[in-house]
Amino acid sequence: MKYPHSKEESSEFLRLALPLMAQQDAALHPVSYAVWYEYVAGINHTLTIATDTLLAKGAPLAEDDIKMLFERHVADVCNEAASAIVAGFQRVLGDISQSTEVAAKEADVFGVTLQRIAQDGTNPGATLDLQALLDGTQTMQASVATLKTQLNASRQEIERLREEVNRARDASLTDSLTGLVNRKGFDQALANCLSGVDAECTAEGPCLLMGDIDHFKTINDTYGHLFGDKVIRAVASVIKGHVKGRDTAARYGGEEFVILLPDTPLHGAQALAEHIRHSIENGRIKRSGSQEAVAQVTLSLGVAHYHLGESATAFIERADRALYLSKRDGRNRVSTATAH
Ligand code: GH3
Ligand code: MG
Ligand code: MG
Repeated sequence: MKYPHSKEESSEFLRLALPLMAQQDAALHPVSYAVWYEYVAGINHTLTIATDTLLAKGAPLAEDDIKMLFERHVADVCNEAASAIVAGFQRVLGDISQSTEVAAKEADVFGVTLQRIAQDGTNPGATLDLQALLDGTQTMQASVATLKTQLNASRQEIERLREEVNRARDASLTDSLTGLVNRKGFDQALANCLSGVDAECTAEGPCLLMGDIDHFKTINDTYGHLFGDKVIRAVASVIKGHVKGRDTAARYGGEEFVILLPDTPLHGAQALAEHIRHSIENGRIKRSGSQEAVAQVTLSLGVAHYHLGESATAFIERADRALYLSKRDGRNRVSTATAH
């Protein structure tokens, strides 16, 4: 179970969670309680960051906010629990099948010994009894063989389940339109990355790129939403072509993208942003059934280099502010975040 707390501890969480729940606009249902329970218990790092970000806006959280927090940050942990159960189950089955293997070997040895004694002519009086024993052993060998087959089938079934759980987890972290990591996956990747940052590696990163398609609303309004989706996929594909190794490229929202570069210094991140911007500016997207390229698509970007001790939220906000500077200064450009 994912909540290991005692009655006393959980009563304290209840006491802390109730006023927080009551201050929001969302109804006081179990989904809402799960969110606030994990928040006050401090057991879900990415949930805490996401909730604090929403609370910092100063308005009470709406039903949709709570639903989003639950789906992105609480429901996922259940997935983890499911894989832990499957892994445990698999371990137990592995142990049982090992014991069966041993039993089968012992039965074989026993059978061979009995056969040898039965064929030994020096003790003719005992031959009949030994024959009965031999028959019994053969029956035992047959049932062990059946058990082994059954165990193998169960093991295959568990392996299939494990793959299914893994697939479901991957799908929950992937954006279906572009195949990039989604916001939840990005939040997790960023939290993991920042938890591993120490004083020595900050000169080499991490860096964060945030990009937003310019005048995308006009593209949608002019050519329709389906074409708008095609543009989002095309931009995602350019971004995908520019990242490698430990980098995480994600679709952060509608026409916004983020790229986390854990081992890239600031000048490298700026150069990468400029390459992406340039590739998109020079790409031409055609409407299906037409050879004519539509109006140019451009991307504005902001780059931020991580400061030791900075929160994930502050890091994202600095990249976002740099992106805003690119928009303000005319779009289709790259700007770099200031220190704070
Ligand atoms: P700016 O240059 O300042 O970024 O202007 P913009 O028009 O790109 O920005 P704005 O935020 O006004 O518009 C973004 C639009 O993106 C509005 C929304 O309807 C659209 N959008 C969001 N998600 C999707 C999506 O998945 N598909 C499509 N086709 N459009 C989307
Ligand atoms: Mg936008
Ligand atoms: Mg835009």
